[in-house]
Amino acid sequence: MHKTQAKLTISPSHLVCPQCMEVLVREDIEGFGHCPYCDHLFEPDAEIEDFLLSPVVAQWAVQQRPQPQADDPRLAP
Ligand SMILES: [Zn+2]
Repeated sequence: MHKTQAKLTISPSHLVCPQCMEVLVREDIEGFGHCPYCDHLFEPDAEIEDFLLSPVVAQWAVQQRPQPQADDPRLAP
């Protein structure tokens, strides 16, 4: 039986390190790019980027909602 390459498991709230199988949350690899438990380096790929950026994108989407401009303090004289 062949050993298959560990598949990275990514869910919206966490991912599983393919080397030590620890459950990591976004903060664990954010800004470091490696597993805090076994030092496994996560290769930057679309799935990881998507995982890391999803809260930013969600926040950005909220900020892009049309706001009543009269209530925007930045526009006040
Ligand atoms: Zn690990």
